[in-house]
Amino acid sequence: LASRELKKEDTIVSVGKVKIGGNRIAIFAGPCAVESREQIMSIAESVREAGAVILRGGAFKPRTSPYAFQGLGEEGLQYLKEAGEKFGMPIISEVVNPSDVPMMAKYLDMFQIGARNMQNFELLKVVGKTGMPVLLKRGLCATIEEWLMAAEYLMSSGTDQVVLCERGIRTYERATRNTLDISAIPMVQKMTHLPVIGDPSHATGVRDMVSPMSLALVASGASGLIVEVHNHPEKAFSDGPQSLYPSQFEKLMRDIQALSSVV
Ligand code: PEP
Ligand code: MN
Repeated sequence: LASRELKKEDTIVSVGKVKIGGNRIAIFAGPCAVESREQIMSIAESVREAGAVILRGGAFKPRTSPYAFQGLGEEGLQYLKEAGEKFGMPIISEVVNPSDVPMMAKYLDMFQIGARNMQNFELLKVVGKTGMPVLLKRGLCATIEEWLMAAEYLMSSGTDQVVLCERGIRTYERATRNTLDISAIPMVQKMTHLPVIGDPSHATGVRDMVSPMSLALVASGASGLIVEVHNHPEKAFSDGPQSLYPSQFEKLMRDIQALSSVV
C-alpha cells in the first residue's frame, strides 16, 4: 500500500488544516515533553509566531530509565490541546500503549509512533484502525525496508494518512546521539508515495547541530521537520541539551525560508 509502484503521485496527508507532502515544507515544533500548562503555552506561542504549523509535546514518554520523568499523561494532553487551539495549531503526541488510543484520539490531531515502538505491531494495528494521521518514526536500528513494512501495518489496518520520520539511527559513532541518515530521504521518496520528514533533534542530540541538520534535511527534499524547542532548555525535564531556544528556532525558520526559495 505504501509502494510508489502502486501509486505514482505523492500522498498529501491532512492534519487539521495543515497539508503535508509534495513540495510543501511543514514544520512541527514544541517541547520534548509537556511539563506544565504555562510551559506549553509559552512554547506554543513562540513557535507559532516563528512559523511552525503543528505543535508537538510528549505526554507519555518512553524513557530509557524508569526513574526519569515519564510525562504528565492525560493532563499533558489537555494542556497540549488547549495550547494548540489557542494558537491555531493541530497537535501531535506519542502513543506508547494500545489501551490509551481511544482516550488519546479525543485530544490529538495526529498520533506519533516513536522509534522504540516502530515494530510494536499490536500498537500499529490499533492506531491504524482509528484512520487518523500518524507520524511513524524510524526505529533505532531499523532498515528502510523494515520501516516501510511498519507503515504497511498502519495502512493495512485502516489509515492512509501516514507520514514517515527519519530521526537518526544507531551506529558506532557516539559523538552525536544518533547518526542522521540523510540519504534515507531521497531513498524513501523513491520507494514510497508517503511524505517523509526529518527530526534533527533526536538525530543529533546536540543543540548546535540542529539547525545545520535541519537545512540539510530540507535541501535533501524532506517534506518537513519536527524540532524540539523549549523556553528554558537548561531546566527541561527531558532532552534539554538538544532543545532549541525560541530565538534559535526563529532564526532557523528564516534560514529555511531563504533556502527553500533558492532551491
Ligand atoms: C520524541 O519525539 O520525543 C522521541 C522520543 O523520539 P524518538 O522516538 O525518535 O526517540
Ligand atoms: Mn525528545
